[in-house]
Amino acid sequence: MTDFLRSSELVGLVQGLYIIAGVLFIAALAGLSKHETAKRGNLAGMVGMGIALVATVLLAMRQTELPDFRSLPVTLVLIAVPMVVGGAIGAWRARTVEMTGMPELIALLHSFVGLAAVLVGFNSFFTEGSHDRVHAIEVFVGVFIGAVTLTGSIVANLKLSAKMKSSPLTLPGRHLLNLAILVLSAALLVWFVSDSSMLTDDIEVGVIPLVLMTVLALLLGFHLVAAIGGGDMPVVVSMLNSYSGWAAAAAGFMLSNDLLIITGSLVGSSGAILSYIMCKAMNRSFISVIAGGFGSDGGSVGEDRDYGEHREIKPDETADLLANAKSVVITPGYGMAVAQAQYPVAELTAALRDKGVDVRFGIHPVAGRLPGHMNVLLAEARVPYDIVLEMDEVNDDFAETDVVLVIGANDTVNPAAIEEPGSPIAGMPVLEVWHARDVIVFKRSMATGYAGVQNPLFFKENTRMLFGDAKERVEDILRSLPR
Ligand code: NDP
Repeated sequence: MTDFLRSSELVGLVQGLYIIAGVLFIAALAGLSKHETAKRGNLAGMVGMGIALVATVLLAMRQTELPDFRSLPVTLVLIAVPMVVGGAIGAWRARTVEMTGMPELIALLHSFVGLAAVLVGFNSFFTEGSHDRVHAIEVFVGVFIGAVTLTGSIVANLKLSAKMKSSPLTLPGRHLLNLAILVLSAALLVWFVSDSSMLTDDIEVGVIPLVLMTVLALLLGFHLVAAIGGGDMPVVVSMLNSYSGWAAAAAGFMLSNDLLIITGSLVGSSGAILSYIMCKAMNRSFISVIAGGFGSDGGSVGEDRDYGEHREIKPDETADLLANAKSVVITPGYGMAVAQAQYPVAELTAALRDKGVDVRFGIHPVAGRLPGHMNVLLAEARVPYDIVLEMDEVNDDFAETDVVLVIGANDTVNPAAIEEPGSPIAGMPVLEVWHARDVIVFKRSMATGYAGVQNPLFFKENTRMLFGDAKERVEDILRSLPR
């Protein structure tokens, strides 16, 4: 065993395993980009991570062969205990988390990556010092990205779990504040690096700029995400995903671990691409969102405007309307996920299609609370993929649609985005359901959606509200549907 741990074959084996894991991670990303291949992609990612863990443990075991290093059994215990405890907590959370709680869980996981990068950075600084300039920059940048990711993700978690208001925090001069933190951090980097070149062994002076920058970066992460309004949160979540990838890549540089650099870069760049796609889908400037809502002025939420009276409809009347329709479009939103209404919705779809009604789904890119949320729920309920359309594919068809069922969606069907230039969601493309002949909105009350903006759709002539839990109301309709 000892000979094997010392041998150069072990290094070759680890490198080989790292390459296989890296290829599997790329296959995972490719698979996850399409419904049909998502499960396979997930499997590739899991196998890749398993291989990466085995290779890393082998590498850690090799370290025990170095002089002055702790013994093999101690190392194995130190690795195994946190892995078993962490794995058990992870498995328990993954089994118990509701689909609607996924985004906040993901945000929390991003914060762990940020925290890990900060801890690796400080550990690397205290054990190896900062006399190597390149290493000093790696430490500084790694800790900076990690700290921004840490507090940014915690704020995202609090906003997504409604423990913090989703409306933007608009401090006076907030953009200048962010800029000042960036400039100060750059100055601290210069201090840190020049300090390290003067004092080869003394880490005490270098720790001052490092700690100061960490505090500033923690504040920046908090402020960047706190300043983002509810409607722009999807972009922030994918942006933090990207940051967590770069934080991991930075940790990879500090630890000289190639696989961590590769994996972190894959996560970082795919998160950046996803953020860009979401910005385009929401007609937001990428730069303005990553700069903490730069350019958004808060806007009016339309609460005090009088939109008139809303009208209601009963489930049996809705059933008659649907049975006599030629074309129906269903636009699901977060409320469908809360109610877990996807199963009766799938049943209703099948029943209407059996009657010859053309039923399709229109999916807004940010419907629900995580990218692809609605697609996952509908796939789970076995709704055929070919009738689940993107917003752009369906938006021109509403004028020829008889009935639209808005099931637990609100912001994503809000005409204020188009009709009210001062609205916080102004400019965001929405599903233009109001062009249909009849619109039925399933929700429990007249409450606003995630962005906290009143929805004039509810007061339009051709809209009727079907109040109650979406799952129960769809089941009522199924019961009343003429056989
Ligand atoms: P919204 O969050 O705007 O609205 C959901 C609606 O569902 C609410 O108005 C609520 O009304 C209703 N609802 C809740 N529970 C139920 C239930 N049991 N039965 C029936 N209705 C229910 O949903 P959208 O999907 O339209 O929009 C998503 C929003 O979330 C956007 O603002 C988006 O930016 C944001 N977001 C999206 C993320 C993503 O990645 N997709 C991530 C983070 C945020 P009531 O209480 O009256 O029932």
